[in-house]
Amino acid sequence: MSRDPIGKGWQVILDEMNGRIRQHCASTSSTAPKATAVSKFGELWIFCDTDDQVIRDLITQARKQASRTCDDCGAPTTRQNRDGWIVTKCQACIDAHLEKIWASTRHSPT
Ligand SMILES: [Zn+2]
Repeated sequence: MSRDPIGKGWQVILDEMNGRIRQHCASTSSTAPKATAVSKFGELWIFCDTDDQVIRDLITQARKQASRTCDDCGAPTTRQNRDGWIVTKCQACIDAHLEKIWASTRHSPT
């Protein structure tokens, strides 16, 4: 559905949303519109060209759910601003991520 990397935690939300959209389209005999999801500034963005209010509501719901779900592991959390780095991750995932960055920039002892 998207070339942009979406964390496992958010992928679950997207899969559920896509399932509901397909169900809705099957029940109304319409073609499911193409939805593209990207992760930007710690937010889940979903682009979908449709006038169908039911689908628009499903997308709004998914975005709201993502805003309080860790994009990595799916744990409940809120949007965090860590030194200008805006993410929606739980504390454990932020720590793991920062540790990785720190380890990769660490200088070897002389
Ligand atoms: Zn997490």
